[in-house]
Amino acid sequence: MFQAERIRHLPPYLFAQIDKKIEKKKNAGIDVISLGIGDPVEPTPPHIINRLIEAVKDPINHQYPSYYGLAEFRKAIAGWYNRRFGIQLDPDKEILPLIGSKEGIAHISVALLDCGAYTLIPDPAYPVYDTGTILTEGKAHFMPLLKENDFLPDIGKIPGNIAKKAQIMFLNYPNNPTGAIASEDFIRDCVDFAGKNDIAICFDNAYSEITFDGYIAPSFLQIPGSKEVGIEFNSLSKTYNMTGWRIGWAAGNSEIIDALGRVKTNIDSGIFNPIQYAGIEALNSSQDCIDEMCDIYCRRRNMVIDALAEINIRVEKPKATIYVWAPVPGGYTSSEFATHVLEETGVVVSPGNAYGPSGEGYIRIALSVKDDRLREALDRIKESV
Ligand SMILES: *Cc1c(COP(=O)(O)O)cnc(C)c1O
Repeated sequence: MFQAERIRHLPPYLFAQIDKKIEKKKNAGIDVISLGIGDPVEPTPPHIINRLIEAVKDPINHQYPSYYGLAEFRKAIAGWYNRRFGIQLDPDKEILPLIGSKEGIAHISVALLDCGAYTLIPDPAYPVYDTGTILTEGKAHFMPLLKENDFLPDIGKIPGNIAKKAQIMFLNYPNNPTGAIASEDFIRDCVDFAGKNDIAICFDNAYSEITFDGYIAPSFLQIPGSKEVGIEFNSLSKTYNMTGWRIGWAAGNSEIIDALGRVKTNIDSGIFNPIQYAGIEALNSSQDCIDEMCDIYCRRRNMVIDALAEINIRVEKPKATIYVWAPVPGGYTSSEFATHVLEETGVVVSPGNAYGPSGEGYIRIALSVKDDRLREALDRIKESV
């Protein structure tokens, strides 16, 4: 059957591929432990679930939700920004609820990117930035994230002719997959660069709340001038163990929010109302559940770092996210090592090069697996090298 040219440029989704591999091993009777996908195993906190249950019983909530999200949900997001970062956002013009931030990240290119124009994309990165670019027939310019630069892109290395033709710059800190964080100074430099070159910054802050050792992550929107040049994506997925619920948002520049809203209202019908009510509950009630999750991830992070040290892989403790980005042992490529670990131990880790060519030489270990299974996986890996 005929397939559009642009689909042929789209690689199979990384985690869909990993899922297939796991399935195959499991069918062969192997006890697979997946450290491949960042997907919290702890349940969504009960007060959030209870709010959904209550809302779902009301037939008014079975109808089409409003396209731009419930006004109360947008207000709850604005209130959260105010309490958490001390910033003011207009809930009607500067906030757009999303069916998970992945959806908005993919659609932002439809809203902002002309055919043939450039997006500036970190390498390695969450694969969806490039997906949007491919589907809208834009061109990607990859910005290497190197260890010697603390996994921050070197803005000065972006060629002038590409900066001129760029319309979107994606940034993601705390970073998936490297676990790196960005200083406010770095973000300020990006805001300057974007202003000078008329580029929209799309800042992905999915891990803003998953931080350790006293580190508190900034919002892109607290940087002066940021609202003139960009938006921030955030999501309840990682913060409240709600990946399956599909609820997030974009916030910031009103013209970008308007453009993204125009795309979405023509394509989808918004988030199921009971999920939005649950989202309001999550944002407005006690945030203690986040501290509990951060303690859990911090403990697992330390388990991973210590186990890797025992096999002579030295990694600095990441201050945020649910990932450890570790160099592979000498003599292996990323793929070879990930394959070796899977074949020898039944443990899934993702090969760094799957996130972009500069990820070569690394693997990503996700901390979203119960402690005893993580311990077992680490023991198996130790034994195999
Ligand atoms: C998990 C993740 C998201 C969040 O995706 P949702 O669609 O909101 O579940 C966004 N960006 C990055 C980098 C992520 O790792």
